[in-house]
Amino acid sequence: MSLHIPFENSYVDLPDRLFARQKPTPVRAPKLIAYNAPLGAELGITEDTDEAELAQVFSGTQLPEGSDPIAQLYAGHQFGNWNPQLGDGRAVLLGESNGYDIQLKGSGKTPFSRRGDGRSWLGPVLREYIVSEAMHAFGVPTTRALAAVETGETVFRERPQPGGILTRVASSHIRVGTFQVLAARQDIEGLQSLMSYSCARHYPEASSPAEFLASVIARQAALVAHWMALGFIHGVMNTDNCSISGETIDYGPCAFMDAFHPGKVFSSIDHYGRYAYGNQPEIAAWNMAQLATALLPLESNSDAAVQEFTKLVHAMPEMIRTGWRNRFAAKLGITEVVAEDEDLIADLLEIMTDTKVDFTNSFRVLTDGTATESPLGANDTFQNWHSRWQRRLEAETADPKATMAAANPVRIPRNHRIEALIQAALQGDYAPFHRLHAALAQPFEVIEEFADLTAPPEPEEVVTHTFCGT
Ligand code: AMP
Ligand code: MG
Repeated sequence: MSLHIPFENSYVDLPDRLFARQKPTPVRAPKLIAYNAPLGAELGITEDTDEAELAQVFSGTQLPEGSDPIAQLYAGHQFGNWNPQLGDGRAVLLGESNGYDIQLKGSGKTPFSRRGDGRSWLGPVLREYIVSEAMHAFGVPTTRALAAVETGETVFRERPQPGGILTRVASSHIRVGTFQVLAARQDIEGLQSLMSYSCARHYPEASSPAEFLASVIARQAALVAHWMALGFIHGVMNTDNCSISGETIDYGPCAFMDAFHPGKVFSSIDHYGRYAYGNQPEIAAWNMAQLATALLPLESNSDAAVQEFTKLVHAMPEMIRTGWRNRFAAKLGITEVVAEDEDLIADLLEIMTDTKVDFTNSFRVLTDGTATESPLGANDTFQNWHSRWQRRLEAETADPKATMAAANPVRIPRNHRIEALIQAALQGDYAPFHRLHAALAQPFEVIEEFADLTAPPEPEEVVTHTFCGT
């Protein structure tokens, strides 16, 4: 029996101040919850093995051959405040496979753990597994989940909880904060190495800091527009949680909205609503301004670079807006998008805000042609909007129904379902976890056996706050 991961360890070729060699800490009684075999195959992993070995490896108890494990250094702005040193405090990068990072999250203390225990409890592990895989199924760039294990150990949060480890896969774990830590230390050589490495891995077409910045901005702009179209709230858009590759990373207190409201916040630690749903485009641009600042030391003629970088960052809001407009237009069956479509979209969102209707289901009733009989149709101004929309669709050559069906998911990972599956798992019942995971593999298909998963929460089920993974 054996598990083989064709490891490369390219990150350790970077200057060694960018990481610390760190083995994961073995756990007492690892037990496999889930292994994502199709993703494993994409990574070139071959397994002729059993759950016990998978649990050993993906809990960090047995180090797979070829791994050169490290904890990565980074810094970051957390809720706008500069923190000069963060880093992988509870994660270890095992290495890369087929160009993708394989990282254990919750695998024990590292030199960057600060006051943390380096561990994770089961709840955030299951949440990230479900939500990141759903994001992938929606077509959103994201880190993936390769495995989830129970550690057989107890982790202390507000109360004792069972420990868990998630194996996360990313096209890299380089963050805006990875650049920031080097810039803050005026480590120009390190910064140059990191940029070259990042370009080679993500943007081979880029050959200057400006081109690199422009590429990251384009991916981040597309990403945040996609989040908006799904009603997704990241919750902690700190610069250390902002990936250079443009993938959604660090699923902490994230959530999909049930009832639509642009000011919606779930995170229990986001007291001022900095990362509210409607603020996400502005924050994404703020994060790119931090990246631009971190890249400046690479430019000898800094005045010209400031001008050039500023222009790039200032162009981002319009890029996000265009992406937003195109995505929401598709949700309404419109592919030949014109500027005026923005009003049609904005007016619908206003009706949805006033009526407090379910975001996901409202776009589904529009898709099905049953909106008039839905809670959305109960709004006085809806009929008028609906007639405008129908007139607009007459100008479309593509089939609006097909466009809408591909843009409006039937099922999302609803908060109350995630809470329920975590509670069931704490009782040893993983059936709801596996069922929701299966239901979200094809989120745009109407599947009768999963009909119950489309229901918004009952008043007593509504989740108002989500918590960080720590
Ligand atoms: P996050 O807000 O989850 O992205 O984490 C922010 C920082 O805190 C990162 O540097 C994490 O590695 C670190 N961190 C979070 N939880 C823990 C933990 N339980 N033990 C050690 N470090 C942690
Ligand atoms: Mg983080």
